[in-house]
Amino acid sequence: MTNKLIYLDNNATTKVDEKVLEEMMPFFKEEYANPSSMYNFSRRSSNAIKEARVKIRDFVNAQDEKEILFTSCGSESANTAIRGVLNYNKTKKHIITSKVEHPCVLNLYQALEKQGYRVDYIGVNSNGELDLEELAAAVCEDTALVSIMWANNETGVINPIDKISEIVKSKNKDTKLFVDAVQVAGKIPIDVQANGVDLLGISGHKFHAPKGVGALYVNSKTMITPLIIGGHQEKGKRAGTENTPYIVGLGKAAELAQSYLDYELTEVKRLRDKLESNILSKIYNARLNTGVANRVPNTTNIGFEYIEGELILLHLSDLGICASSGSACTSGSLEPSHVLRAMNVPFTAIHGSIRWSLSRYTTEEEIDYVIEKLPGIIEKATSISPYQNELQALKNLRK
Ligand code: PLP
Repeated sequence: MTNKLIYLDNNATTKVDEKVLEEMMPFFKEEYANPSSMYNFSRRSSNAIKEARVKIRDFVNAQDEKEILFTSCGSESANTAIRGVLNYNKTKKHIITSKVEHPCVLNLYQALEKQGYRVDYIGVNSNGELDLEELAAAVCEDTALVSIMWANNETGVINPIDKISEIVKSKNKDTKLFVDAVQVAGKIPIDVQANGVDLLGISGHKFHAPKGVGALYVNSKTMITPLIIGGHQEKGKRAGTENTPYIVGLGKAAELAQSYLDYELTEVKRLRDKLESNILSKIYNARLNTGVANRVPNTTNIGFEYIEGELILLHLSDLGICASSGSACTSGSLEPSHVLRAMNVPFTAIHGSIRWSLSRYTTEEEIDYVIEKLPGIIEKATSISPYQNELQALKNLRK
């Protein structure tokens, strides 16, 4: 066992920034007023929420802060957007999404299919890039909603939201576009106006705010029926007393994320590229699952052929290194990830695929340590693989 902690799983969640925590603390202690009350004491809370709303408006470049709703997480943002649009106009029954969305979107669509909606799941190519022709062909008169993620959580592959919006609106100007932007917040600039987005969801814990707070942008021309009905909070679109400390934290995290964007796009990317190129050059049975696709700067997904990802993760964990496999454990059996399956990652690599996701806290020393230790780990895992002949053939091929 080691006391070392090298955290390379930032697409799962991130460390809360000290400055975010500092900004939140008064709203747990002295400033506990209900922001909706009438007295002066509550004004500081309601003003802090107003300020946070303006910060999120600027973070996504919305026209008006009234277009921002606070939610509890990315999943709630997606559910509010999707159900909100469909329930507002119940006459249209067709939805388009992609095969590689997050489960908070995919599982919701499966539930909606049981309620009579028709859902088209658009495919991706072997790099994880969305098939835009398939998307264009799918939009029709009855399409109520298109929902496409901005970047994928497992591969980091970025979808061209501006082109997607153009395609959708040219086919049906009344179709709404919801974008799950959870994995781009703090990694690339978000501009809802320039990209023609109607609704967009983010989640605080992916960009150094705490878990349990998110936001949804709904442009002023888009009507939704609320998911949570009750009081008048959030202009009647999301009832429940506002979570003042967390909302303040989300605003601060967004402000900080914006100020670190250049650092993400240069330094975090440089460290990601260093990790990736060293793994690919030092380990003969490693393959970059996304090829040349455009990706967020912090993520790389690498398959190690003929070995089990879980074994690699256990060895990494013994050294204090946290990464994640592309596999999800379903009912006791290890199922390869739906994202890598949609990309047709060969069966030889799909079980041994590891996602590495960095953050602004990742250091050069940490990356050097992984580069030093990983070849030994892979060699150990490879030595007990039942595919020794195939591995030898691969070694000869890549020599
Ligand atoms: N969408 C994407 C792309 C994600 O990666 C995640 C979380 O991993 C979510 C949505 C859900 O966010 P939350 O955990 O805040 O509900």
